[in-house]
Amino acid sequence: MKRYVIVGNGIAATGCIEGIRSIDEKGEITVISKEPYPAYGRPLISYFMEDKVKLENISYRNAEYYEEKNCKVLYGCECTGIDTDAKTVKLNNGKAINYDELCIASGSSPFIPAYPGIEGVRNVYTFTTIDDAKMLKEAVTNDKNVLILGSGLIGLKCMEGLFNKAASITVSSRGNQVMSRILDKVTAKDIQKYLEDKGIIFELKDTVDHFDGNIAVMTSGHEIQFDILVMSLGVKPNVSILNGAEEAIKVDESMRTEFKNVYAAGDCVQSEDITDGKTKVMAIIPNAYMGGECAGKNMAGGNAVFDNAMPMNSMSLLEKHIMTAGANREADGVEVMDLSGKSSTKRLYIKDDVIIGYTIVDDVESAGIYTKLIRDRAVLSREQQESLKKSPTIDIYGHDTVKTILESAV
Ligand SMILES: Cc1cc2nc3c(=O)[nH]c(=O)nc-3n(C[C@H](O)[C@H](O)[C@H](O)COP(=O)(O)OP(=O)(O)OC[C@H]3O[C@@H](n4cnc5c(N)ncnc54)[C@H](O)[C@@H]3O)c2cc1C
Repeated sequence: MKRYVIVGNGIAATGCIEGIRSIDEKGEITVISKEPYPAYGRPLISYFMEDKVKLENISYRNAEYYEEKNCKVLYGCECTGIDTDAKTVKLNNGKAINYDELCIASGSSPFIPAYPGIEGVRNVYTFTTIDDAKMLKEAVTNDKNVLILGSGLIGLKCMEGLFNKAASITVSSRGNQVMSRILDKVTAKDIQKYLEDKGIIFELKDTVDHFDGNIAVMTSGHEIQFDILVMSLGVKPNVSILNGAEEAIKVDESMRTEFKNVYAAGDCVQSEDITDGKTKVMAIIPNAYMGGECAGKNMAGGNAVFDNAMPMNSMSLLEKHIMTAGANREADGVEVMDLSGKSSTKRLYIKDDVIIGYTIVDDVESAGIYTKLIRDRAVLSREQQESLKKSPTIDIYGHDTVKTILESAV
């Protein structure tokens, strides 16, 4: 019987468990879970903070899941190192576990810069885990001013969770737009305006020079006084367990690392983005799940490939629905097909007759088919592109095919 070990218990680990079990029903699976919770949807922690969902409802699978999959989960246990020659993982309780096949699905952790004066700041938080959300929820009351450093997805989801709970929320970022990794400039401006109209304060194009107690002194000289500080300036992959690595782990299309019988998936890996050919970390749920599932199948002797990773986001921010995928910027050789309506945004990015990305706000109905067209690298004739402008889904393949595509779209 094969011994499978998975480090981490998030989305990639879930994909890995399901990949293994699709081939091997009997092998022994041990999951090492630093957090004391079953796998959960991190995007939902802001809804937990807003009191929209209860903790028990943010689990990624049902309560019986691990038992049904016959997995042993070591909750609250940390892997401290991997010996790839001896094929063992070391644990923080001093024990070691042998593996035949290992998957590193350890995700990422918030990056916290060493700002001068940070040690003198009271009430510093991050926002990536259930425990972070629990602590913030407890700390924030409607007489507290919150400063969020970072205007990316995590910073803005935190803002959403705290909306209407604090005296003020200021979001600060060195860049000149919100969600610079996700949104094009025009959409970012629209979203910023939408949030400003709801009372959120943005301090962009500025960064903290130092802290003087609970005052952030910005490089511009401007001072921001706050009671609560949230650091959401990006994440770094949890990879030091693999021979002290610092950069996200490189994997091939089978999710194999350079070490024998060692696979990796999720936010701790870098792989090729099919929409621009660049190797990068694509820290999103679909990639984590699909990468993990592919790794699991191969660990169990299968022959799976995950070769269509791309950045993709589907989120709502105070009732605004935003979906983006792939390379969604103007660049050399990229045509922008603007299908925006009066109160919605829809821009498709096309290169060499292939849709390589999109940005959609509110009118998200047809996003599934665009995602599928990107993943399939479907080459569209000029005629098809014209019909796409008139009717985003139906005309391009015909009713039945579209139905099949939509049903299989991730
Ligand atoms: C607030 C927030 C909002 C988000 N919103 C979206 C969204 O809208 N859409 C989207 O697609 N993605 C979103 N993401 C990103 C998404 O959650 C991640 O891409 C996804 O969770 C990655 O899954 P993973 O399994 O790789 O890592 P994780 O889910 O981070 O799981 C890794 C687990 O491994 C554990 N671990 C780490 N090191 C060790 C160790 N040494 N030993 C044992 N355990 C260890 C960690 O504690 C963690 O529990 C969001 C993330 C956050 C934080």
